[in-house]
Amino acid sequence: MFIIYGKKTGRIKKYTDHGYACPNCKAFDLSIKVFREYYHLYYIPAFPAGIKSAAVSCNNCGATIRNEAVSQQYENTARTPFYFFIWPILVIIFIAFMIKSNLETQKEKQAFINDPKVGDVYTIRKEDTGKSSYYFVRLIRIEGDTITAYHNNFVYSGYVDKLDKDDFFDQAEEFMFLKPQIKKMLKSGEINSVYRYYDGDDGFNRMR
Ligand SMILES: [Zn+2]
Repeated sequence: MFIIYGKKTGRIKKYTDHGYACPNCKAFDLSIKVFREYYHLYYIPAFPAGIKSAAVSCNNCGATIRNEAVSQQYENTARTPFYFFIWPILVIIFIAFMIKSNLETQKEKQAFINDPKVGDVYTIRKEDTGKSSYYFVRLIRIEGDTITAYHNNFVYSGYVDKLDKDDFFDQAEEFMFLKPQIKKMLKSGEINSVYRYYDGDDGFNRMR
């Protein structure tokens, strides 16, 4: 991938000062612009770079004025605005969003496991000598604490969130779970995902 990055200069503040006379026309009307460089990634500011620098000019005659005292005063006052930090802000927002959405998924999973319904589909993860494999079960009957389910036909070597187009739930064999057991399986991570409101695209309705 081609990454665009580099340094740019941005104006961080503009001031008008009536405390100093212009050496050219003697008017008390100076304009001070304070600049600062920043590093950008894809032209979006990431971090400020270097020190601030002020450009002083006269609003009356337009002359550029070199006055260290004025420059320094405004370089010290001007604060680097937040938009010089857009990348870190975006990253923080993104992480916060991911954490929030993950917590919500966890909560929903727990609620579905606490109150299983016919039609629920679970992804089951099995660990065998450091290798994970995945399969699915679909609940077909719930009687008291006993849950009966069909399992799918394939075994997946990586995490998947739907059945392969040739895969289906096998009606020839029934699996039994107990309600306390599925709670333990969720806790241990053996139940990896829980699906309730799915559509036909995931193949969860295919039973043969
Ligand atoms: Zn002037």
